[in-house]
Amino acid sequence: MMRLSEPQFSCEQILDECVAGITGNASLRKKLTSSKPDLMAAGDEYLVAVGTGELYTIPPIDTNMDDDPVVINALKKSELVKVYDQYFVSKNKPARKMYDALLNSAKENCPFCGGIGTPRNLDHFLPKAHFPQFSVLSRNLVPSCRDCNMDGKGHDFATKAEDQIIQPYADKDRFFMDQWIFATYHADDEREPGVFEYYTSPPENWSEVDKLRVRKHFEDFDLAKRYSTKAAEQLGTVLSQIKKMELANLNKDMIRDVLLQPGVDAAPFVNHWQKGMYQALMHI
Ligand SMILES: [Zn+2]
Repeated sequence: MMRLSEPQFSCEQILDECVAGITGNASLRKKLTSSKPDLMAAGDEYLVAVGTGELYTIPPIDTNMDDDPVVINALKKSELVKVYDQYFVSKNKPARKMYDALLNSAKENCPFCGGIGTPRNLDHFLPKAHFPQFSVLSRNLVPSCRDCNMDGKGHDFATKAEDQIIQPYADKDRFFMDQWIFATYHADDEREPGVFEYYTSPPENWSEVDKLRVRKHFEDFDLAKRYSTKAAEQLGTVLSQIKKMELANLNKDMIRDVLLQPGVDAAPFVNHWQKGMYQALMHI
């Protein structure tokens, strides 16, 4: 649930670079070139659908009768997957620099888990096996860490509005601007020195669907457990800082002002695990 900045390449630029890399397959080169307007139109449709929370209404391709159907113009599923695998990802092809630029745009922070992990590869937000028309659409290519990687898990796609996870490039601002991840600190837990319990609590005025979506995102990426682990790693340090301040006769209000509030303020974005952790410690 970290916002990624818009990709610096247009749909057309990526397609042009892929075409430029096709050297030994004249038929594919010709088909991809003539399919550009249709692929770009599909990309526009994708973007509009994300913005209104309706990406789930775009139907997957039908492979019931034919495992390798024609998807767009004369391009088959296998050809669109090949464009991605051989002419976009391949290290010796001109489009590879765009792959690397997209991967680097996340600046080492996986947008799905909010920077807990470092992106290792680009992941298809809508999987290319079911939506091959978006196989090289930049906004469908999300840098993701090993734990969040959806391609690797052969992930499914949402068929209901409430099952949609957050799209880092183009989803509604509210998911990135409003706080919906919080934590409670249980000092009395049998595990010393206590544990953080993370949970979702979106603003009341959100729609029911949006509330369910953040919960789905939170659960799909196992964020309660991963954030709790992350906070536990820092807890010892923070508690010893609090202890020192208490020994120096600082009262609770002063400790909040000097240590905890700055910790809240230093969180890099609103739903960062660190924000929840310091907020929770304000209540002890
Ligand atoms: Zn991740």
